[in-house]
Amino acid sequence: MITVGMDIGSVASKGVLLSGDKKFSLVLPTGWSPRDVGEQILANLLAESRVELEEVDSILVTGYGRVSFDRAAARTVTEISCHARGVAALCPETGTIIDIGGQDSKVISINGNGKVLDFAMNDKCAAGTGRFLQVMANTLGMDVGELAAFEDPSAMVKINSMCTVFAESEIIGLLARGSSKGGIIAGLHQSVGKRVAAMTRRLGVKEKIVFTGGVAQNAGVCRALEEELKHRIVVPEECQFTGALGAALLAAG
Ligand code: ADP
Repeated sequence: MITVGMDIGSVASKGVLLSGDKKFSLVLPTGWSPRDVGEQILANLLAESRVELEEVDSILVTGYGRVSFDRAAARTVTEISCHARGVAALCPETGTIIDIGGQDSKVISINGNGKVLDFAMNDKCAAGTGRFLQVMANTLGMDVGELAAFEDPSAMVKINSMCTVFAESEIIGLLARGSSKGGIIAGLHQSVGKRVAAMTRRLGVKEKIVFTGGVAQNAGVCRALEEELKHRIVVPEECQFTGALGAALLAAG
């Protein structure tokens, strides 16, 4: 059986092709056209796996841009179901999924079989999302992927503003007064950690806790979440691909 799962996100689009026991994955920036990036991912996955489109049994699309991908053969499913399925496959016995993406953060409570029991989501405000960290990294003159390596929790500077626009001004002020970049970054990670931990506590913390989404690549945010929740958190190597993997697995059945 050959299936394709795609997670067309607000910032990054991910694709997974499953062919027997082989797995091919690809991530591309979503850019301005979710439809085009979906087509590009599909074409690249087919080329890399040397599979013809006619050989694909099923395509399932999820994520913010899923409705834009209008191939008749493709079905759509919510991100919550796909993340749950992907995480259950990668990390059996998971109780709580924390997913922080580009434009939202969500917490999903699942049972041992990956069935969704409950979920909570913040998609109203950039605070506590990858976008918040991207804007702050830009203000600090670095790439979002560099933040964790530069953070200095021992010199943590508390960031008081929740709103992305005000937090940007606050950071410019802190830099002008001589606060260290490492301390400011630690404070930013703590601010995201606090906000997402509060949402997790509201839903109920159930071990094992697994952290996914593009922001899970940031070890500083993981540290902050562990401190806030006082629980160990597991980050799968394929943390950004759990939605796409879940879609590919759901496409099979
Ligand atoms: P979406 O599905 O909403 O597009 P993703 O789950 O793909 O979002 O996550 C995108 C976010 O991941 C970006 O906004 C950015 O903050 C973060 N990110 C991307 N790459 C890295 C990296 N190498 N290290 C840390 N954070 C990253």
